[in-house]
Amino acid sequence: MCADRVYLFDTTLRDGAQTTGVDFSLADKIQIASLLDALGIDYVEGGYPGANPLDTEFFTKKRTKQARFTAFGMTKKIGRSASNDPGIAALLASASDAICYVGKAWDYQVRVALEASLEDNLESVKDSITTAVAAGRETMLDCEHFFDGYKANPDYALQVAKTAYESGARWVVLCDTNGGTLPHEIAAIVEAVIKHIPGDHLGIHAHDDTGQAVANSLAALRAGVRQIQGTLNGLGERCGNANLATIIPTLVLKNEFSSQFETGISEKALRQLTPVSRALDEILNRAPNRHAPYVGASAFATKAGIHASAVMKDPRTYEHVAPETVGNHRKVLVSDQAGRSNIVAELERLGIAFNKDDHRISRLLEEVKEREGLGYSYEGADASFFLLARRVLGEVPEFFRVERFSVNVERRFAENGETQSVAEAFVKVDVDGERLISAAEGNGPVNALDLALRKDLGKYQRFIEDMELVDYKVRVFQGGSDAVTRVLIETGDGTGETWTTVGVSSNIIDASFQALIDSITYRLIKKGAAA
Ligand SMILES: [Zn+2]
Repeated sequence: MCADRVYLFDTTLRDGAQTTGVDFSLADKIQIASLLDALGIDYVEGGYPGANPLDTEFFTKKRTKQARFTAFGMTKKIGRSASNDPGIAALLASASDAICYVGKAWDYQVRVALEASLEDNLESVKDSITTAVAAGRETMLDCEHFFDGYKANPDYALQVAKTAYESGARWVVLCDTNGGTLPHEIAAIVEAVIKHIPGDHLGIHAHDDTGQAVANSLAALRAGVRQIQGTLNGLGERCGNANLATIIPTLVLKNEFSSQFETGISEKALRQLTPVSRALDEILNRAPNRHAPYVGASAFATKAGIHASAVMKDPRTYEHVAPETVGNHRKVLVSDQAGRSNIVAELERLGIAFNKDDHRISRLLEEVKEREGLGYSYEGADASFFLLARRVLGEVPEFFRVERFSVNVERRFAENGETQSVAEAFVKVDVDGERLISAAEGNGPVNALDLALRKDLGKYQRFIEDMELVDYKVRVFQGGSDAVTRVLIETGDGTGETWTTVGVSSNIIDASFQALIDSITYRLIKKGAAA
């Protein structure tokens, strides 16, 4: 069997960053690039070096191990040479393996937006590409508005694409920039282009404005292109880009594609797809889309009675693929029995010893349901679930008891107009009859409380010395008639291990306190501290 190689190109860090409310920090970008790299994406495109300090910094180093680290930029400005164009100089100075240019392919856009002649635009494409190729970079061109351009003036759109190919571009990518093209139109236009440019040099870049970015990408693939551009979780402006979290499993698991095409995604990496998708939402501090294909929490959840029992008998009746193949899992929400099997699966996953006939498993299920009703979420908070399960099934020692705590936030307004915020926390703890009092200052109330709590725990201090707060997330939502605050705290230690705990209250400090206490208690159990 000689399967065609399909290349996956991710632009979460640039096109995905156009999403309303999305703003990546440098650390976010580095983390996302390594997630995509580990997944087996071929090209990780990271933004515009030279255009802003963050992207310039991001491109000072190669941020991927396997994937080709790709810089994005405009073709040269009209009226100057590529070798004299500061944008192109920044692309060439970046630590990238590949350069992806964007150039206009719609004659109307060239005249109106670029205020240039059609010939000047072709010359710009040619000069920009030959310059990058001469510098030894793998080079490609995203042909902006290609499909609209092709409909308006097929000869010119094609001329832009051909110019790029003939100038040495490894890939010529056909973009449906405003996302309005339909799958049958995509197929027909790709078939026309492929008469001039070989399919293994063509790519597709689709937007989801008709809800068909994935369908359009697959239509283009079937018509002959061999590179697909998209974003993780379909991030992107307006309705988003083609969702790689949907495209990847479709290519790997559906016989129609897997029998013809090979990707860089291994079966093992595919099992990381759900965790990677959720990790991105975590970084963005937004709730994952429960109904996302393949990776959503509800993607393999069944509720109604008849379906649920059928799923239990033969999962294939309601599951088009096995949930484990994409790192997701089955959920049957109907009966206590089924809820019980979810709990059992979680206990097994966390390595908590239990007896299958233990009646306390039903009590744990009740407890989880009740707490989820209050706003707790254990899906992202393994350490808190671990403690809850241990409390119901066995016991969690009371290592220490907080008798009281207080947090004070003060804002000082100086006469010269300067302001200063100071947060102080005070904690009184009972450790084995020993009363310990600590106080700490922090850059905010939660930080101060965390520092005060961990300042002196007497005989347990050595177990928590290397703990540090890695991440802190707050979500406020409506629970009944009141706003409820859920706090998720991720804690780490010197070895790189991390764990997440949850707290819920109408009061953000109180919710944070619960999560901090869980975090310390979890650590003491894991370290085998004796109560
Ligand atoms: Zn785009």
